Amino acid sequence: MKSKAYTLTLDQVEGELSSLGNSIDTAGLVLNLIYRSRHKSFEQFTQLSKKASEHFQNNFGYELPKVIRRQDSTDGTVKLLLGLEDGESVESVLLPFYKKYTLCVSSQVGCAMNCKFCFTATQGFKRNLKAHEIIGQVMKAKEILKEMGEKRDIANVVFMGQGEPLHNFDALKEAIHILTEPKGLGLGKRSITVSTSGYLPGLERFEELGGVNLALSLHSTRDDVRSKLIPINNRYPLDSVLEQINRLKRHERQTVEYEYLLINDLNDSKDDAKDLARVLMERTHMINIIPFNPFPGSIFERPKPERVEEFKQWLVEEGARVMVRKTKGDDILAACGQLKS
Ligand code: SAH
Repeated sequence: MKSKAYTLTLDQVEGELSSLGNSIDTAGLVLNLIYRSRHKSFEQFTQLSKKASEHFQNNFGYELPKVIRRQDSTDGTVKLLLGLEDGESVESVLLPFYKKYTLCVSSQVGCAMNCKFCFTATQGFKRNLKAHEIIGQVMKAKEILKEMGEKRDIANVVFMGQGEPLHNFDALKEAIHILTEPKGLGLGKRSITVSTSGYLPGLERFEELGGVNLALSLHSTRDDVRSKLIPINNRYPLDSVLEQINRLKRHERQTVEYEYLLINDLNDSKDDAKDLARVLMERTHMINIIPFNPFPGSIFERPKPERVEEFKQWLVEEGARVMVRKTKGDDILAACGQLKS
């Protein structure tokens, strides 16, 4: 079977070219062809020698994941259910902003973290995605924007879809390397955010990702509550996670976003807000409040909008930096925590 063209890195293309006795000068053009122009075939690439274009043509394919289902929200959010080669599927979500799109990608089929508030958890863990399956989501979403006649492009990629990205570290690292190749997709490190439930073994390697943004799903400062919501907190308590964040390089440490899932009557009291501010006060922080998004069978409730606002104000009074994440795509179950294959 052919390898995927859209996992090739600059080094690899240079390697392929020199093993064919070609100059490596065209490597950048080859990457451009693969990631930007979306020719469907290497044969159309006249800058390559016949031998080289045949070689790439025979060994690398362009097939992207197939769209099994597409849902368009009234707010412009587009959710894609994408079919993988082994019959599994994952979801990706295109989120429109003023001048750009953010793409929310999945890192695993299902998830092993078993968080009690998350729809993905109800499907269990199936398998890790390969790097080409992560990049495939981006390439497919770009193709769909093109088909829609959309001028805006994907400017941000967030690893907030299905799966725990740091639990699939090697593929995540490879995918980020490909996303940020200047001659390829050309995203900046700062345009990529990796969200984690606090999977410590992955956080210990975080610097290998070369300076992408980190988001931590915090959700409660109390270990008893947090462990109930996020069971791996039993193994990697919040303190050990925060200590590990302290060990990161300055820039990475200082730009962490702390996600706080707000659940009615569970973690939305004034004391909860005060505690949260106290824990984060010594750190450069941004708190992102995510009001709970319900899904079929969920046992938690979303707080009333007034409570969300009140919680935010309590944090502001304590001097914390805080914003409320606007819910997008909830009419098609595309909002945070509502993804399931
Ligand atoms: N596994 C990663 C990324 C996936 S979820 C992580 O845990 O961070 C992205 C964000 O959505 C996380 O902060 C997660 O806690 C949150 N989330 C999960 N289920 C949710 C729900 N039902 N409503 C609102 N946010 C949810």
